Amino acid sequence: MSAIAQLLFPSTCLLCNSPGLDLCALCENKIKRNHRPILLTDTQLWAGALYGDELSELILLAKEKHISPARNFLAQLLVESFMRARSEHGESRPVFLVPIPSSKSANRSRGYRHAYLLAGELRKKISSPNRNLITVHEALVVNRKVSDQTNLNKQEREHNVQGAYSVRKLNRIQEQADLFLVDDVVTTGSSVREGIRTLREAGVRPLGVLAAGVSPRLFS
Ligand SMILES: [Zn+2]
Repeated sequence: MSAIAQLLFPSTCLLCNSPGLDLCALCENKIKRNHRPILLTDTQLWAGALYGDELSELILLAKEKHISPARNFLAQLLVESFMRARSEHGESRPVFLVPIPSSKSANRSRGYRHAYLLAGELRKKISSPNRNLITVHEALVVNRKVSDQTNLNKQEREHNVQGAYSVRKLNRIQEQADLFLVDDVVTTGSSVREGIRTLREAGVRPLGVLAAGVSPRLFS
């Protein structure tokens, strides 16, 4: 559905077009929530739901079509991930949310930065005063040409992102802050692992990764 159709008919399900909510109960029930953190090498990943057809479609709508209700739903899953991560690590420290960046060409052709908008929505959904502690910080940037990861296998993904990120404006990252990487979905973990590696090389250790979805294969 186009953004204009979305404005004209605000209350149909994004996935099955039935009237009522942005996401009807039937479609939402097909998206299986996830409560278990996963260890990615040595960094914890909290993901709100298991990746499947419905979540894949919502990510596509948010990422490629700029559909706000789809992004809202992903942000809600991120809030759930965030709350779980915070309950394990305490809630008093400032937080930096660092989006996993898309390539410059993808940002240019879309006209927006998908993960940045997602992290911003996550921040907006956190209630005050906790929200005041949270900053979205684009500390990672893509420094060369990379392909879209969607149709690549694990090895190709790793090769595609290897050395592809740089850290910028590191001096804005405070010593006493918790840093979380933010992504829509973690499938093989290649991008987030490379993000973690790049930040560590620059002397920053992320506390964890927050994602809307995670591939069930990562649990096996
Ligand atoms: Zn539906």
